[in-house]
Amino acid sequence: MILELIAAIGVSILFTENPQMTCGNAYSFGCYLPQKNEIHLSYYSKDINHSLYHELGHSIFYNDDYSRIIIKGYKPLQEYPSDYDTERKILDETVADYFAEFMLNNKEFSVKYPCLWLYFDEKINSYSAI
Ligand SMILES: [Zn+2]
Repeated sequence: MILELIAAIGVSILFTENPQMTCGNAYSFGCYLPQKNEIHLSYYSKDINHSLYHELGHSIFYNDDYSRIIIKGYKPLQEYPSDYDTERKILDETVADYFAEFMLNNKEFSVKYPCLWLYFDEKINSYSAI
């Protein structure tokens, strides 16, 4: 399912030893580059699946302003570094974190966040309908 989703999105996944080169952040385990439609993942990610799903979240919702409105009703899942200083950046990170949770713990997510689960599920299905 995950490879089909990646293929449908058309995003490229690249693995790197040095994410600060492309991501510009030494502490990052990955990033999404919208101009190139590429996800860069660090070999040293503590949890490569979480990093992949988080970055996929960025790629899927990058042009989806509605996701930024919806996510305002949800608490961020972590404290973000102080250089995440714009509202849009924090909303984007929050969407990506919730999306990773949706992918990793789908059943629990459907019980805990049923409205968000539906929204994410429909979004995923819109790709598989292509
Ligand atoms: Zn992120």
